[in-house]
Amino acid sequence: MTIYDLTLAELRDRLDRRELSAAEVTGAYLERIAATNPQLNSFITVCAETATVEAEAADRAIAAGETAPLTGLPIAVKDIFNTAGLRTTCGSRILGNYISPYDATAIGRIKAQKAVILGKLNMDEFAMGSSNENSAFGAVRNPWELSRVPGGSSGGSAACVAARQAAAALGTDTGGSIRQPAAYCSVVGLKPTYGRVSRYGVVAYASSLDQVGPLARDVRDCALMLQAVAGYDPADSTSVDTAAPDYQAGLTGNIKGLRIGLPREYFIDGLDDDVRRAVEQATATYRDLGAEIVEVSLPHTAYAVACYYLIATAEASSNLARYDGVRYGLRAEQAENLIDMYMQSRAAGFGTEVKRRIMLGTYALSSGYYDAYYLKAQKVRTLIRQDFLDAFEKVDVLLTPVAPTPAFALGEKVNDPLQMYLSDIYTIPVNLAGTCAMSLPCGFSADSLPIGLQLIGKPFDEAAILSAAYAFEQATEWHKRQPEI
Ligand code: GLN
Repeated sequence: MTIYDLTLAELRDRLDRRELSAAEVTGAYLERIAATNPQLNSFITVCAETATVEAEAADRAIAAGETAPLTGLPIAVKDIFNTAGLRTTCGSRILGNYISPYDATAIGRIKAQKAVILGKLNMDEFAMGSSNENSAFGAVRNPWELSRVPGGSSGGSAACVAARQAAAALGTDTGGSIRQPAAYCSVVGLKPTYGRVSRYGVVAYASSLDQVGPLARDVRDCALMLQAVAGYDPADSTSVDTAAPDYQAGLTGNIKGLRIGLPREYFIDGLDDDVRRAVEQATATYRDLGAEIVEVSLPHTAYAVACYYLIATAEASSNLARYDGVRYGLRAEQAENLIDMYMQSRAAGFGTEVKRRIMLGTYALSSGYYDAYYLKAQKVRTLIRQDFLDAFEKVDVLLTPVAPTPAFALGEKVNDPLQMYLSDIYTIPVNLAGTCAMSLPCGFSADSLPIGLQLIGKPFDEAAILSAAYAFEQATEWHKRQPEI
């Protein structure tokens, strides 16, 4: 077994017993990245120098007996997190050379534990996309099948963890961006409840939906990462001041009597046969483990995609107004006057999908249309949230597919944005409801592409989905398969 095959928990053990040093682990990962990144393109920035310095500091901390759970562990982060001294592009030309003067809170927290940050991961521009093809730094390839997309927008994060280029990663999820790529690449990904993890220092896409979360190789590692970043932050007014429980303590494997709901509206036409079969099989596994399976209804599901693409684009059009070429980011040099400079900077700096969304969002918010679109969407959002709260009166967790199909081919949907948007049908409602959900490996299609299972939990009950996911993982082998790269 090579160093980069070890999980976070296994690495922790080896580091604590001095069988490995953080410097050795980091060195092995940097070699692995150098060997595989030309094929995958999962990193936008590899920070070999700072990682090496951080690894040495971690080794000193371990030697001094000052070890935190993530000390010396090799992590990579989506290029949406501000990192002091290291460029943060958000997958966009407009931030191509942007260096933040401060760390995002999530970054500060893993740095405080002396984790080693290997680099910044590729993503759809401003996290807008489901395939990672909207990146100004080129598409990422799926390590299971290089002609396929890794999913998006945290495509680099999922591909990197699946290809063992980092032991775990941090991503963000506004409408599925952690869970869908996790499913396409066969890794574990968790979107916490809105408010569980600070968004401070995370480049904003749709602020009422954005949430930070981990991608990891197994459920225990996912719990470890969540623990590191969860918790109140006075710098994010939407972060909630309730203490995070001990997530690892809940991983017992015992889920007897757990009530699992299957939302009727999620098992519909358009759901790929292989995905349906894998999810049904997972349901049978849960029944064998002693869970009680109940059918439930989320009646407003059909409106979720439309509702999301009004709210997310409206918020994006407002958030992205700050990229004007004045304060930071790309500036057009040949402009005749101020307005011309704004227009040229934005025209040159933003990609097609980002421009499309700014236009959609601006339209939805414009006077005369606001009530018909944005306000209506907010009302529908409340109904969708209420659907979940009603379902959680009857069950503890919900079990659904993550995406209607396995990873699609590169180029397949680039010219059909609506098809791309529809692939988020199972993940988007969770963000609108503001609750937590995770994706975990549950099988492979006939042509050997990974399939993910989604577990949705009650608000702030990440512990319940982690516990249910752990029991499934103990009973199955899917998470042990690795791509050949
Ligand atoms: N695919 C969805 C979108 O394009 C979700 C992206 C995300 O979660 N950041 O908006």
